[in-house]
Amino acid sequence: MKPFQNFLHNLQSAAKMMNLPDDSYEALSIPENIFETDITFVKDDGSPMTVSGYRVQHNSARGPYKGGIRFHPEADINEVKTLASLMSLKCAVVNLPLGGGKGGIQVNPKELSQGELERLSRAYFRAGTEAGVFGVKKDIPAPDVYTNPQIMSWMMDEYEQIVGYKEPGVITGKPLELGGSLGRNYATSQGGFFILEDFLQQQFPKKKANEFTIAVQGFGNAGAFFAEIADKAGYRIIAVSDSKGAIICTDDHCKIDKLHEHKKTGGSLRGNFCQGDHCDIHKMSSERVEMMTNEELLEMEVDILVVAALDGVIHEGNADKIKAPVILELANGPVTAEADTILESKEITVIPDILANAGGVTVSYFEWVQNRSGDVWEEDYVNKKLKKIMLHAFRDLQNVQSEHEEASMREAAFILGIERIVKAMELRGQL
Ligand code: NAD
Repeated sequence: MKPFQNFLHNLQSAAKMMNLPDDSYEALSIPENIFETDITFVKDDGSPMTVSGYRVQHNSARGPYKGGIRFHPEADINEVKTLASLMSLKCAVVNLPLGGGKGGIQVNPKELSQGELERLSRAYFRAGTEAGVFGVKKDIPAPDVYTNPQIMSWMMDEYEQIVGYKEPGVITGKPLELGGSLGRNYATSQGGFFILEDFLQQQFPKKKANEFTIAVQGFGNAGAFFAEIADKAGYRIIAVSDSKGAIICTDDHCKIDKLHEHKKTGGSLRGNFCQGDHCDIHKMSSERVEMMTNEELLEMEVDILVVAALDGVIHEGNADKIKAPVILELANGPVTAEADTILESKEITVIPDILANAGGVTVSYFEWVQNRSGDVWEEDYVNKKLKKIMLHAFRDLQNVQSEHEEASMREAAFILGIERIVKAMELRGQL
């Protein structure tokens, strides 16, 4: 199933459980606006390069569209539509006064220089601004896969040059120096951790943190910060992966600081130990790590599997090999609908993306509020507020589950999000 079909499948199954009227289902299955454009920028050698860019605005009944911008060779309209739709539900699940949107550029940013990245980012944001897509009260992007605070800075600067005044709230995930929020860089991971910890305390009240083992797929923004936060709280991270491969730590748990160093020096977790097929066995044994494939990491016998890379990584073909009883979805859409059915039959709990990774958009919302009011919040305040919002959303989801006993956590999250968006649409007279 392609990502958007996957989304529609989940929407349909929640709609059925809650007896959603057809017109409400229709409204949520079609994005409000789709902006597609060819973006041309100049390469360092002076030649032009053209790539496809998208911005999908799914639903704005609850507030302005909000959602990241992804740079990826496989970003296409189907994927961006899916991610925009998930954003509407996610913002509703955590009860933010925001709608859902998402942007994507089909490009491999690893093949571009900094100068080329800057020209591409500016050209995309200029095209969107001139077409009336972006705006502080309209559509507020943020970082996603392979985009970062520097890219947000260029986009904000381009916007301000066009409109002729300062408007930092037009984009979030900026560096602190340009109006970013304290706590934003690790908010997705922190939010996911608050939910996981609460879930574990409810399910296993007698178990201590160091009695849980965790494998983390994806050692980027979401995965690496999660590993750091969980490690500090005493949980045992025993394996991690990135796009180049996975490593398993043969000691009691991985030394997360060391992994960051590996990533920096070797370019990837594996790259610090292996060049092609040749691996430095002495270095591996002195640092107590072994190499694994990405597939093997997903199939490990751990207590918790955290998926923090890309969508569709747990699918029909590998779901029956998953052994972890709990999966935390920090990535968007990492488990397909077919896999959900298989995991459910194995009684594996999936803590769904639209709750688990909502910490990112929540602190992005805090950033937007700070930018619009001119205030600057302390980090402690940000994290306290984040925790309250995440746990509140989790309680709301569990209340839905007690009303719909047959609902999985994903179905309950969808029901919660749908109810809130549909209510807003009704109040506006749209339904
Ligand atoms: P990122 O680019 O910082 O990191 C992605 C990581 O995944 C990289 O380490 C990459 O090497 C790794 N990866 C790619 N393919 C892999 C594979 N097959 N196996 C193992 N690792 C692989 O991106 P990110 O911001 O951390 O986003 C990761 C996921 O989390 C995405 O689905 C994104 O939409 C979602 N998400 C991120 C945020 C956020 O605030 N960063 C918020 C909500 C959701």
